[in-house]
Amino acid sequence: MSAHLPTQARAVVIGGGVIGCSVAYHLAQLGWRDTVLLERDRLTSGTTWHAAGLMVTFGSTSETSTELRKYTRDLYARLEAETGQATGFRPVGFIEVASDADRLEEYRRISAFNRRCGVDVHEISPSQVKELFPLARVDDVLAGFYVKGDGRADPVDVTMALAKGAKLKGATLIEGVAVEDVVVENGRVTGVRTAQGIIACEYVVNCAGMWARQLAAKNGISVPLQAAEHYYLITDKLSAIDRSWPVLEDPGCHGYYREEGGGMMVGLFEPVCAPWKIEGAPHDFSFGEIPPDWERMTPYLEKALSRVPEVKEAGLKKLFCGPESFTPDLRPIVGESPEVKNYFVAAGLNSIGILTGGGLGRAVAQWVVDGHPDVDVTGMHIDRLEPYQATAAYRRTRTVESLGMVYACHYPFKPMKTARDARRSPLYGELEKQGAFFRDVSGWETPDWYAGAGRVAEAGPLSFGRPAWWPHWEAEHRAAREGVIVMDMSFMSKFRSRVATPAAS
Ligand SMILES: Cc1cc2nc3c(=O)[nH]c(=O)nc-3n(C[C@H](O)[C@H](O)[C@H](O)COP(=O)(O)OP(=O)(O)OC[C@H]3O[C@@H](n4cnc5c(N)ncnc54)[C@H](O)[C@@H]3O)c2cc1C
Repeated sequence: MSAHLPTQARAVVIGGGVIGCSVAYHLAQLGWRDTVLLERDRLTSGTTWHAAGLMVTFGSTSETSTELRKYTRDLYARLEAETGQATGFRPVGFIEVASDADRLEEYRRISAFNRRCGVDVHEISPSQVKELFPLARVDDVLAGFYVKGDGRADPVDVTMALAKGAKLKGATLIEGVAVEDVVVENGRVTGVRTAQGIIACEYVVNCAGMWARQLAAKNGISVPLQAAEHYYLITDKLSAIDRSWPVLEDPGCHGYYREEGGGMMVGLFEPVCAPWKIEGAPHDFSFGEIPPDWERMTPYLEKALSRVPEVKEAGLKKLFCGPESFTPDLRPIVGESPEVKNYFVAAGLNSIGILTGGGLGRAVAQWVVDGHPDVDVTGMHIDRLEPYQATAAYRRTRTVESLGMVYACHYPFKPMKTARDARRSPLYGELEKQGAFFRDVSGWETPDWYAGAGRVAEAGPLSFGRPAWWPHWEAEHRAAREGVIVMDMSFMSKFRSRVATPAAS
């Protein structure tokens, strides 16, 4: 790592986790050799060092995210040849299991979509699941979804390989230097301030992980991410386990399973989770752990272990808890901030920072260099989020739900339940009287459908088929087509043009 702080750079990347190193690597790859990455402590010391390293291309319903995953897997497979630094990528395979009809329907839909995106996923039988992962109980499994080329990587090695690749291409990486704030003049980035001096620069990419919100707030930029407790358990060695087994995931049991050090790692996504440090991540938290909350986690652990019952006999080596950043809609926060020109953000990875890190770094670097993204970033663009979502009250409530959404069954029209009622239109009371079923649209409580005057809207069970409220929707639709309606559009965005009107000719 370089010891001297340069006085000037074209771009400064803040944070040396997997995302920052990937952005620096790709900027250098695109020819921006005068890129400087500043890391507060040591590379990977934030969240990256303790990630489980699942490298999975299956599971996203976004074409962009699937492309980023595929690129990431290919990059991790070839980085060692390029840099001499191993990434630990091992294509041991990945299986998602479905043990109820709704999840089976969901994964079949995702498989069809993922196959169209080039993911080689196949539905396999319960006995094939058992053959590939003999410790799994499959009596209630309906099917597995298997991607042979997916697997696992070592998050620290991946980051070090990206860092080495960045340096080989001319970027400068400096550890032990924290960015205190970003210098902005006339609404545009001009530098970064550190205790060791200022680096003048044109572009900044804030890749400060769970610290990104606090840092961005200094420049009035809203990055509404929040750290939450995130767990995995590691058992003592098991004679029955083999390193070559695929990674198994069973969202219905809240767990994922893979070999680790001769024992088993059982990772968890509990449906109701715990935000960590609402007031802000501590500045000196490095290679840190959070004391596990056994009482809260025991029921989820029992459910997860029920998928691999023999593992209960093995001794417990560790229940690990570390912080990971989650966002209000479980999508990353990426792109040029609407508030400050040339201030980019790439943070809030919702526990897929390793498996999308390569692709995300490529997309952000290309966006910085060309001035516009080359993939559809609508779903992840920072400009979709609003300042009210960064408030402590919002983060405290929404984050309880967001981690659990990762393994929830993703029914169409499933509304978020937490952090509601941020905004009501003047018509709210009237709409309520008509039996409105409200959903959150940009914070506005917006009617989805109406049960009818004086009736209370009951959503009924969620479904992949025709929902119970379909007749209410139909009635509203007919009223609009055949009669006259009033539509409350308060939730729509209003754009104010900054372009001066040309003088009347
Ligand atoms: C238990 C657990 C298991 C996980 N398993 C997986 C998995 O299997 N697969 C997967 O894809 N993801 C997984 N993740 C998620 C993954 O670890 C994260 O998404 C990823 O590491 C985030 O990387 P990052 O670079 O955004 O953040 P970080 O790694 O936190 O990097 C941010 C860096 O910024 C530095 N920094 C902060 N402020 C400043 C400043 N002012 N100046 C300079 N530097 C600064 C920090 O020191 C830190 O090194 C897991 C997470 C957890 C907690």
